Amino acid sequence: MYDVLIIGAGIVGTAIARELSKYELKVILAEKENDIANGTTKANSAIVHAGYDALPGTLKAKTNVLGNKLYPKLCEELDVPFKQIGSFVVAFNEDEVKVLERLKKQGEENGVPNLEILPGEKVLEMEPNLSDKITAALYAPTGGIVGPFELAIALAENAVENGVEVILNSPVTKIEKIEEGYKVKAGEREILTKFVINCAGLYADQVNNLINEEYFKIQPNRGEYNLFDKTVGNYVNKVVFQAPTPVSKGVVCLPTVHGNFLIGPTADYVDSPQEVQTTGKGLAEVREKGLKVLPNFPFYKVITSFAGLRAKVEGGDFIIEEVRENKGFINVAGIDSPGLTAAPVIALEVVEILRNITGGLKEKENFNGKRKAVVHFMELSPEEKAELIKKDPKFGRVICRCESITEGEIVNAIHRPVGGRTLDGIKRRVRAGMGRCQGGFCAPRVMEILARELEKDITEIVKDSPNSYILTGPTKSRKKDN
Ligand SMILES: Cc1cc2nc3c(=O)[nH]c(=O)nc-3n(C[C@H](O)[C@H](O)[C@H](O)COP(=O)(O)OP(=O)(O)OC[C@H]3O[C@@H](n4cnc5c(N)ncnc54)[C@H](O)[C@@H]3O)c2cc1C
Repeated sequence: MYDVLIIGAGIVGTAIARELSKYELKVILAEKENDIANGTTKANSAIVHAGYDALPGTLKAKTNVLGNKLYPKLCEELDVPFKQIGSFVVAFNEDEVKVLERLKKQGEENGVPNLEILPGEKVLEMEPNLSDKITAALYAPTGGIVGPFELAIALAENAVENGVEVILNSPVTKIEKIEEGYKVKAGEREILTKFVINCAGLYADQVNNLINEEYFKIQPNRGEYNLFDKTVGNYVNKVVFQAPTPVSKGVVCLPTVHGNFLIGPTADYVDSPQEVQTTGKGLAEVREKGLKVLPNFPFYKVITSFAGLRAKVEGGDFIIEEVRENKGFINVAGIDSPGLTAAPVIALEVVEILRNITGGLKEKENFNGKRKAVVHFMELSPEEKAELIKKDPKFGRVICRCESITEGEIVNAIHRPVGGRTLDGIKRRVRAGMGRCQGGFCAPRVMEILARELEKDITEIVKDSPNSYILTGPTKSRKKDN
């Protein structure tokens, strides 16, 4: 019997798994997809928000501001890219300056340090590529950026290293109450567990409804983006928001931790949690709003577009609570923005709930919170490179030319705890295929490596989700030794 079953391996589920791995508990994390971070966690703005957006007194405000404080140490421990570059919210007129003043006051109430409203000239001095029509900006030096899927993968790896079991391709489809807790069907497995933590993101209402009364409904809200080439990666050096709307923080322009540039997202309600396609209308809005702030931005430098879905609930705040009628069943739902920033604190909140229910949790003596990322060959010194190639010649073979990723890195990404099994899984772990050609050159090579290392036929290698097959079979025969 498990102590805890966590449902959903996004940033929230993996943060909870890692936090619980600090205690003497038997924990299992079940994910319906074939990889960690295949839901909203892979498609968002990647901002570690300062914390002035959320209404004071809400769970969002509390978990955001504290989450922001925890990020530097967490990312250092887990060897995940994080940069505290600061953020601006820009205003173009007097009405918007009033919004900045409201946000500043709200932020101060939430406990955000060092907020300042800067005049237009100062803003332009700091970021010369911004529109000269900007009259003022709210500056939050604690705002930052992170690699969101890298963090979720790192949390999962570290949780596994500390004893958590992760099962992929395991959708939870049935939950029954039993005397000691719950009997749960997850893929082919039947899991007996004392506690269930529902972190199923866009599907959290469906998972809740498997056993509890329906008391919240997830409304997916889509945000679309354009991602740009590294040649414009430092077009601005801070996160630049426009004044927020009631449903979102508005279109934002920002560098990414890997030196690309991102503009988006839109905010449109959609009918289903599967509507992650981009649209002409959405991307036109991204362009229009992007150009308002960055009038000379070279939009032709776009390398890809994508969309993510916010898991919105009525009332707007996060739901983090034990369900009254089913003791030991904890919902962590409605985790829209700033869920990425808040995840480390959401995990602490869940531990607190479990501590209260159980009357105390025993800390593990041998918990090891440190995790090392896959070595990035190109960042090594010439001596280190030579040494590594001598040990393993696969580091001498570059597979992804845009991002300079070697075969050694890809093989390492496959054989780690919860290693990559798909083309996008490798992309998210070591960036092979993330560059300007978006895998046009390296995808066949990466597929060959995956097939070889996993002892599969190459036609079994998928792009992302379980049925996203790429190859169906050979088009013509050729001699093996050609
Ligand atoms: C456009 C956009 C921009 C955003 N920008 C930011 C930002 O800049 N900063 C920030 O802090 N936050 C941001 N967010 C919010 C943040 O991305 C989310 O709060 C966070 O990723 C939610 O994580 P999660 O783990 O709850 O959900 P998910 O990542 O969706 O994970 C849920 C997991 O549960 C799995 N699952 C579902 N049903 C089942 C089942 N039955 N059985 C097993 N597994 C199941 C799913 O496959 C999925 O992997 C943004 C969100 C969007 C959409």
